[in-house]
Amino acid sequence: MQVQFTGAAREVTGSCHIVRAGGTAVALDCGLFQGRRADARAKNEQLPADPHEIDAVVLSHAHIDHAGRLPFLVARGFRGPIYCTPATRDLCAIMLADSAHIQNQDAQHLERHGRAHQVPLYGQRDVVQTISQMVSVSYGRAVDVAHGMRAMFTDAGHILGSASVALDVAEDGATRRIVFSGDIGRRGLPIIRDPSPPEGAHAVIIESTYGDRDHLSVENARREFARVVNETAARGGKILVPAFAVGRTQELVYDLHALLDAGAVARIPIYVDSPLATAATGVFEMHPDAYDQTEEGVRTLERLFRNDLVRYVRDTAESKKLNSLVGPAIIIAASGMAESGRILHHLLHGAGDPRNTVLIVGFQAEHTLGRRIVERQPLLRILGMDVPLKARVEIINGYSAHGDRTELLAWLERVRAASPSFGPVWLVHGEPAAQTAFGALIGSRGFSSHAPERWETQSL
Ligand code: ZN
Repeated sequence: MQVQFTGAAREVTGSCHIVRAGGTAVALDCGLFQGRRADARAKNEQLPADPHEIDAVVLSHAHIDHAGRLPFLVARGFRGPIYCTPATRDLCAIMLADSAHIQNQDAQHLERHGRAHQVPLYGQRDVVQTISQMVSVSYGRAVDVAHGMRAMFTDAGHILGSASVALDVAEDGATRRIVFSGDIGRRGLPIIRDPSPPEGAHAVIIESTYGDRDHLSVENARREFARVVNETAARGGKILVPAFAVGRTQELVYDLHALLDAGAVARIPIYVDSPLATAATGVFEMHPDAYDQTEEGVRTLERLFRNDLVRYVRDTAESKKLNSLVGPAIIIAASGMAESGRILHHLLHGAGDPRNTVLIVGFQAEHTLGRRIVERQPLLRILGMDVPLKARVEIINGYSAHGDRTELLAWLERVRAASPSFGPVWLVHGEPAAQTAFGALIGSRGFSSHAPERWETQSL
C-alpha cells in the first residue's frame, strides 16, 4: 500500500493524500491551495492525480482548504462518489458555491484592471455536479468506498460535521488501517462534540498546524468576550467583529446567547451581517445530531442561534442602514481577516470612533487588513479611503478551532494506546517550523514521525 502526499505537505492548505493499493486509489480530501495568488494558482491547476484513476474521495470536513478543489476534479472528469458526513455535505453546498462566486469575481476584477486573463477553476455548474456526487455517511458507520477499501468517520471536534477517518485497506489477504486526523479541534469548543480519535491504526496521517504552541482555554475566551462587550457598551460604542461566516460566527452568537441567558453581558442588539453566515446558521440548525449534548447551553437554550436581540442581515440595503446605527451594538461580519466583505464598510465607518472596539477572534495572516489592525497601525486604508484607527483593538485567541500542541499530542497518545500494531506517523497540514517542533515533541514520547514533501510517496 502506498500513500502519496499531494497537498498540505509542509504547508497548511491544499489538503489531499492519495492512498493506493491493489489497483484502487482513494483520495483523502481535495482542498484548495490558498496564499499568494500566482503561487496558489499554479498549485491548484496541477491535479493531484488523473481524475479517472481516482475511485472515490473521502472528505474530512467542509473547509475550503480541504474541499475547495473538488469541483475542479469534477470539472476535469471525476465522476466517483465523495463520502462525507451529512453536515459536511450541507456546508459544502454553500461554501463551494461561495468559492465559485469569489473566483468569478476575482477573474472579473483582474480583467477590469487589465491584468492577466484568468479563467476560474470552476463554476456553479461544477459545484452542483460535485454535490450530486456526495454520499453522506454518519459517524461510526463503516462503508465500502472502493474495491478493498472501507472508511469510517469519527468526530474531529473542529467544525460542524468535521471528521477523522479510519481507512481500512485490504491487500494480499491482510487488512491495515490508515488513520487520517483531518483537522483536529479542541476539547470544550462551543456547540460541537470533542474529538474522538479512531482506534486500531497501523499508520497515522496527522495535522500539525499548531504543533509549536498552546492556546488560551475556551472558557477564558468566553469571559474575555463578555468583558469586551460590557466595556464597549458602557462607552456607548459598537463592537465590530470580523469573523469567518461558517463556524466562528455561530460560536460567537451561541456564546453571546449563553452569556445573555446568564445575565453576564449588556442587552444590546446583535447583527450578523453576512448572507453566507445566515445560510451557514441554517445548516447548523439542520444538524442538532452533531451538537454536544453534554454542554449546558446546548441542553438549556431553546434556540441556539436566535433570540430577541439577534438579527440576521441578508440584503444589502439593510446592511447599509447599519452604518447610521446609533448606540451600542455588536456587528459580526465576514471576512474573517477583513480582506473583503461587509466588515469593510463597518470598519470604514467605525474604526475612527474611540468609543468603538474592533474585536479580533481569529488568526490574521500577513498582508491583510486584519493584521494591520492587530498591529494597531494608526492609519488604515479601507476601500480606497484613509481611516485613522481610533477604536480600541481587542484580541481574543481562545476561539481557535484547531487543537494546540498539547491537544494534538493527547490525540496521538489516545490513538496509539488503542492500536496494538501502531506504526509510522506522517505529519501534514503545518508550516515547516511547527512540524519540526511537533516532531521533536512527539519524538520525546517515543513516536517516530516524518513530514513528507509535496508529491512524496510512502509505503506501508
Ligand atoms: Zn479546517
